Amino acid sequence: MKITDADLNTLNQYLTEKWNVAHRRCPVCQAENLWSISDTVFHVSEFCPGGGIILSGPTLPLICIVCTNCGYTIMVNAIIAGIVTPQSEQASSQEGPSQHAPSQEGQHHE
Ligand SMILES: [Zn+2]
Repeated sequence: MKITDADLNTLNQYLTEKWNVAHRRCPVCQAENLWSISDTVFHVSEFCPGGGIILSGPTLPLICIVCTNCGYTIMVNAIIAGIVTPQSEQASSQEGPSQHAPSQEGQHHE
């Protein structure tokens, strides 16, 4: 799923609130504020021994924030950041493999 300009505004507000600008140094290369936000929401899915894909298993929508100096990547939960609602994540699952809201989202349990 591509991030819209409105989503990017939401994400920037989230990051401003949660990630103090004074603490945005890369923990690997120590570069300051060389972060790039991906324009796509990715997801990780449940590991399946043997290499298969569990189509109905839980997934976790993530936004990647990459240090452009060394490649270290921070992954932010797109639901908590306000970019993806559990409903929209389930709707997008009809276009591709799998989906469920992440189980740690206590307030979003069905
Ligand atoms: Zn870095």
